Amino acid sequence: MPLAEVVDKVIPRLDDSRVRRVTLTGGEPTIHPHFLDIVRAFRAAGMDVGICTNATTLNNVQIAALVEMGVHCNVSLDGFAADSHGRFRGDRASFAVTVATVEKLGRAGILQGLLCTPNTLAQNEEYARLCAFARANGARYVLLNPLGSMGRGVKSKAKLAKTTLHMREIFELTAPFDGPDLDIAHIRFPNTEARPLAGCEAGTIIYVFTPGEVTVCPYLVFAARTPASRHADTEFIVGNIFTDPDLAARLDDYRFHDRYLVGANATCTACSLSSGCGKGCPAAVVAAGGRIGEVDAEQCPAIEENHAEGRQLLPLMPA
Ligand code: SF4
Repeated sequence: MPLAEVVDKVIPRLDDSRVRRVTLTGGEPTIHPHFLDIVRAFRAAGMDVGICTNATTLNNVQIAALVEMGVHCNVSLDGFAADSHGRFRGDRASFAVTVATVEKLGRAGILQGLLCTPNTLAQNEEYARLCAFARANGARYVLLNPLGSMGRGVKSKAKLAKTTLHMREIFELTAPFDGPDLDIAHIRFPNTEARPLAGCEAGTIIYVFTPGEVTVCPYLVFAARTPASRHADTEFIVGNIFTDPDLAARLDDYRFHDRYLVGANATCTACSLSSGCGKGCPAAVVAAGGRIGEVDAEQCPAIEENHAEGRQLLPLMPA
């Protein structure tokens, strides 16, 4: 995105849409030739700014500028060894660089979180070491998000995704690090406790793709672009920030939960947990080839294969 477009169109139209916090992501936002100018422009508009980075090119000058502007950083770290994180990222040497930069961000007080995709290149124990590293460097959260859960990793999932058994072990290894100072967010881990599902927040956080399309949820768009999808990605794209001056009105008029009814299926209707269940993630339903409204089968505790062997089952269905 050219700097002039960001200043002249993106920021004013986000401001009109009542956006107050932005996260710059990518790709790798720090290699944009006008990276700091873009951050400065968002800050000048009164918006809080965070960045998501792989921390391989972020230099001392940039870090000092981010500190001065009060910008926090989230760093991708997908294992805790050169053989895992480095290989997963396509450059074994990147692990040492990322670790050193995370330590700098921690010392500078602007490390917010570590973003992690568990994968088969890493030993499960590495994720505990990663959480300890996050805590030692003052991160406020670690987000563990399995590969391919919403469609983006659909091609690499078969080769690199951890099995359910491994994901359960990673949960057990990392959950003890969760506490008042460090939040360990396990996204779409196996639902072994048979908990009712969280709800869908589409529209609460909007996403702008580099060509300008604005969506109420990027995962819905990624999911709609997978081969099995029965939805079109355009259903979830509200407009284009470069070409639609009325973007704010479009966002106000687009009400995902008026357009789609999650949980509109016989299983949910008959389920005893229904009133306290958010019905899970519509993007996961789309990526699995379903229509929105069908059960989020990967997470729903009423689906037989989600039951852990030997676990006591909840009476989800009326007798
Ligand atoms: S059947 Fe529907 S309401 Fe019951 S737990 Fe599963 S998703 Fe939630």
